[in-house]
Amino acid sequence: MATLGKPENTINILKKYQFVFQKKYGQNFLIDTHVLDKIMKAADIGSEDLAIEVGPGIGTLTQYLCENAKNVAAIEIDDMLIPILNDTLSEYDNIEIIHDDVLKVDIGSVIEKYGSCRKVKVVANLPYYITTPIIMSLFESKVPIDSITVMVQKEVAERMQAKPGTKDYGALSLAVQYYADAKIVANVPPNCFMPRPNVGSAVIHLKKHETNPYEVKDEKLLFKIIRASFNQRRKTLQNGLKNAQDLPYSKDEILQAIRESGLDEGIRGEKLSLEQFVTLANILKQ
Ligand code: SAM
Repeated sequence: MATLGKPENTINILKKYQFVFQKKYGQNFLIDTHVLDKIMKAADIGSEDLAIEVGPGIGTLTQYLCENAKNVAAIEIDDMLIPILNDTLSEYDNIEIIHDDVLKVDIGSVIEKYGSCRKVKVVANLPYYITTPIIMSLFESKVPIDSITVMVQKEVAERMQAKPGTKDYGALSLAVQYYADAKIVANVPPNCFMPRPNVGSAVIHLKKHETNPYEVKDEKLLFKIIRASFNQRRKTLQNGLKNAQDLPYSKDEILQAIRESGLDEGIRGEKLSLEQFVTLANILKQ
């Protein structure tokens, strides 16, 4: 039974193993059953699904995943947590604990191993120091994932969900929304964790597009253009692209492409939708 969401049970486990929190691993364990319920509701794990968890900690969320999924693969870097996980998850026979750095694990092979599962869903209370690399590598590796439901720093969740023209909108919003629909499903205060983080947190659900809604001639070029447009936020799109070291276009070519895209010459990058960036990138690629 899932028991660790209750603070007293977490404290007992930590005491039993004399566990010392490692700040370098972004360890803030969940101690709130309402938040765990919200994560599980958003993740919508079915009995035929494979759940992949990044950083199971002492197994709090993992217990819920084991009770709902067909199989669970949980990737944990901290040596000290492995014996604890073997204890707290001993009653489940559908869990595999992978003792490794998530950024070094070949997620494609993990998924292949559980080929009989219907959908693959990533669920985690992420270590905040590597939120973006984890999410982007899951998307960019093009492994067959259905959705990602994760606890992240509130500010990062807001950037992932932001729309054009808002203060939070930037390269991260576009990168995430290129691959998925992003929706914040809960805001979570520091007192739901042990120890308490210094920042607010939020649970975000990223539902991967089933087919990419955009026809992009050159993805790498698209993302170079996006990054260049936000590198100098107060500059116009035209100047941002002109000053980018890794874009080979002349001032005239850039101006011509902006006009052809139907955009105002003085527009700033932060006003462009993803669709408009795609149009511009496709024109420049020609
Ligand atoms: N899931 C647990 C919970 O909600 O209570 C713990 C979440 S805690 C925010 C982040 C977890 O990720 C920790 O267990 C930490 O040791 C683990 N972690 C940190 N860096 C990691 C990495 N590179 N690869 C795998 N796990 C990592």
